[in-house]
Amino acid sequence: MNDRKIRIAVLHFSHETVSFLPNETTLDDFIYPGSPAKGEELLRFDPKNYMGGFVQVAREFSEVELVGIESPLWPKTGIGSGWVTEEAYETFVGKMIAGLKEEGPFDGVYLCLHGAMAVHGIPRPEADLARRVRQVVGRSAFIAATFDLHGNEDEAFLEHADMGFAVKYFPHYDAHLQGERAARTLVRAIRGDYRPTHKTIKVPVISPTVLQWTGASPWMDLVQRALVWEAREMDVYVNIFFGFPFADVPDVGMTVQVLTNDNPKLAEQVARDLAGTIWRLREALLQSTKLHSIADGVALARQAVENGNTPVVLADHSDRSGAATWLLREIVAQDLANTLIATIADAKTTASLKASGAKAGDAFDMEVGGLVDDSAGEAVRIKGTILRAVEGYGQFWVCVGFGRNNVLILSTYLVQIMEPFSLKALVPDIGAFDVMAIKSRVHFRRGFDDNGFAKTILLVEPEQPFLGTTRLDKLPYENVDLARFYPYGNPTFSV
Ligand SMILES: [Zn+2]
Repeated sequence: MNDRKIRIAVLHFSHETVSFLPNETTLDDFIYPGSPAKGEELLRFDPKNYMGGFVQVAREFSEVELVGIESPLWPKTGIGSGWVTEEAYETFVGKMIAGLKEEGPFDGVYLCLHGAMAVHGIPRPEADLARRVRQVVGRSAFIAATFDLHGNEDEAFLEHADMGFAVKYFPHYDAHLQGERAARTLVRAIRGDYRPTHKTIKVPVISPTVLQWTGASPWMDLVQRALVWEAREMDVYVNIFFGFPFADVPDVGMTVQVLTNDNPKLAEQVARDLAGTIWRLREALLQSTKLHSIADGVALARQAVENGNTPVVLADHSDRSGAATWLLREIVAQDLANTLIATIADAKTTASLKASGAKAGDAFDMEVGGLVDDSAGEAVRIKGTILRAVEGYGQFWVCVGFGRNNVLILSTYLVQIMEPFSLKALVPDIGAFDVMAIKSRVHFRRGFDDNGFAKTILLVEPEQPFLGTTRLDKLPYENVDLARFYPYGNPTFSV
């Protein structure tokens, strides 16, 4: 019986930074009602994801006390903003370190992270955070983290922390599960029942996220292989970071990380097996998803409607600002009917509509979207009627009915629709649309594809290589040499 009190500090700092976007992620973006959060508010903020899984399992141990240290939640820009400013990063890390000193000592720390945060002047922010946390809590405490598989990670993080648990699926169905594992393994480590050893191998393969859906081979096969290792060997945890190529940081690309209980040899064996498997499959990994031009995609959507294969999803995977109008323009040009466009981000137009007291029933005739950068395209003039205008989730939302039963949703920021019924409050008859045009790469498959909702899925991108492009060699990297990665260079790799 071990009833010594175990004190665990809980911290959160997550962003998936599209460093090629012109708008920085500022201190202000992290500050809104609910964020930063501490204490119970932090522990409760995301019950279905990493944090919820961690808290649920940690609290199954009666001797565990969780202390929520003041932490920023996701910025209100979501994933629609670029470099995190040093001011934002230092302000929050400073508060975290001060909080740890004030509330300590601790036996363990849980870092709820994403892994693809990019900060001006800090090449590896998650590892930097772990290093600074370690300085406060000392060598005897254990530090565990959870990660998104889009994390850009290398060996640096585990030089300072003890354990990392990344989701395996994309869409990320297992975030809660990884939080649970982090809690259980952290408590075991603190009790002396788990001695974390690990092996990290970078694999020189870089891929755009739209290709990384784990519902299809060979991405699915990588997941399966990792699960087999976890099932056949006790206390083995496998992370396969697919990486996030839209952050211009030195640790992009794929990474295999294996955690074992005091068994470095086994960690090495499993990591080599998976790294070798990725390398063998590299060509097929990059050919797993079919992409269409915007014009072809809209024409195929029309055909699918004629054939009764509805609802159709048109997913513009490449829009990183949320303001892109390419798909909207083509939908208007090809005169699609019963189509929902969700969303066009337009901070200016939504602000002016809010200021003028826009309401349901008002006539609408405005230029929407576009313009924020080249990738957003031109603004498109839409004439119709306002169906709804509401405030929510820190944004102003305006639904405009136009054309033949089409509905356009304007939002303040980029919105990635993952579940069609998440829009119910804005568009009550969500099941009535033949076509749904959204901005998403893979996450939408959660609510549109993997659950059988949509009968036709079409991924589209503009002809030009804009910043969300699959043609990564068109991006202005400064900190990454693409020639070191397959398929852009001819790197050698062996395990
Ligand atoms: Zn992700």
